[in-house]
Amino acid sequence: MIDPKANSKTVGVDVLIVGGGMAGCALAYALAHKYSVLVLEKEPETSRQDRIGESLPAAALRSLKSLGLSDTIDQCAHSDYHGVVSIWGQSRPIRKDFFDTLDGSGLHVDRGLLNRAIKKAAVGAGVGFIQDAQLSSLSSNNDDWAVEVDRTDEHYHIQARIVVDASGRASVVARKLGMRRVNTDRAVAIHAQCTRMKTDQTLPQLNYQGSTLIEAVENGWWYRAPLPSGKYIISFHTDSDLPITSFMQKPGVWLDALRSTKLINNGVELSQESALKLAVCAANSSFPRQCAGDNWLAIGDAALAFDPLSSQGMFNALTTALLAKQAIYEVLDGNSDATASYARKIARVCNAYQQNLTEFYRTEVRWRESLFWKRRLA
Ligand SMILES: Cc1cc2nc3c(=O)[nH]c(=O)nc-3n(C[C@H](O)[C@H](O)[C@H](O)COP(=O)(O)OP(=O)(O)OC[C@H]3O[C@@H](n4cnc5c(N)ncnc54)[C@H](O)[C@@H]3O)c2cc1C
Repeated sequence: MIDPKANSKTVGVDVLIVGGGMAGCALAYALAHKYSVLVLEKEPETSRQDRIGESLPAAALRSLKSLGLSDTIDQCAHSDYHGVVSIWGQSRPIRKDFFDTLDGSGLHVDRGLLNRAIKKAAVGAGVGFIQDAQLSSLSSNNDDWAVEVDRTDEHYHIQARIVVDASGRASVVARKLGMRRVNTDRAVAIHAQCTRMKTDQTLPQLNYQGSTLIEAVENGWWYRAPLPSGKYIISFHTDSDLPITSFMQKPGVWLDALRSTKLINNGVELSQESALKLAVCAANSSFPRQCAGDNWLAIGDAALAFDPLSSQGMFNALTTALLAKQAIYEVLDGNSDATASYARKIARVCNAYQQNLTEFYRTEVRWRESLFWKRRLA
């Protein structure tokens, strides 16, 4: 319906999802078979600002299947993800294979292609997208939400029965509703893509083909994963308030630190300082004080953002989309307690995650005097 006011449109939908990342698009696809769904995304359609995060554990593949999105894997380049090799808590590398776990191997995926394949499935299922747009306000009146959205020269007035926050760490909906986010630490990632050596030189007697590598160092830790493009993603993690964070944003310093690792630099062709494109992003554990309420809920990173050490971000994006789908079906069927029950499930995941993360960090005791580790051992 077009308002008489020029460039102002009024739209009515069952579900409005704010954020068109993996979580938002997966949920949109899952709901579109029964409900009208609109996704609001701040990035323009042409944006190729792909999220970091390529290691997809097998459990996430199960969630993709439960969402009916298994086909999206065939649309993105990927390679097998067999396990993790780590130098953590001791000075020699240890290999943990996924072969002998219940879930089995996962995949290293082209993240941009996977996100776009999930979005394509949502569009195919009838989901509407408004991109390059800003949420200016939202308010609840009776049983509906009234949401105002601005786009360069357009204004949308959206009425929705349910609003979903899928805006990642930005937590746009929760913040607009006055909820602050809890940051349990200040971790950041300083990362770059690096070229693999033509002949991969593995450490003697250690096969790390198809593995993610992790190495603890004095002021943080590194990870490296193979990308389907043939490159590696390499990321250094430390705390944003430590002086090392600004040093490590200098390509020469980052490369020198990489050179001094035992595991991560193996088989990597180190580029010239001038050619290295470093990027910095938040990598801390964080969550809103409340992740659901009357007729709204948060999914993915907006509900709970994990430390990348856990490699659980995409699994969480897909699994919370599944749980949210169930909760939204129930709410729209008249069960007003369904979002509270969803919030209790997320709270249980959050508690278990924090306990596991704390225990894992406490297994590294070699640098008790370093502030990064002291904080995690306290
Ligand atoms: C260094 C690092 C490495 C990682 N590695 C892995 C890994 O190997 N494996 C793994 O599983 N996970 C990994 N993760 C985590 C994973 O990438 C995230 O958990 C995942 O992207 C979460 O998906 P999401 O859809 O919830 O959020 P996002 O991917 O952040 O998507 C949120 C969307 O909301 C949009 N948005 C934001 N604000 C607004 C607004 N105001 N209005 C409209 N739209 C908005 C954004 O543009 C974006 O498209 C890693 C994370 C980091 C930081």
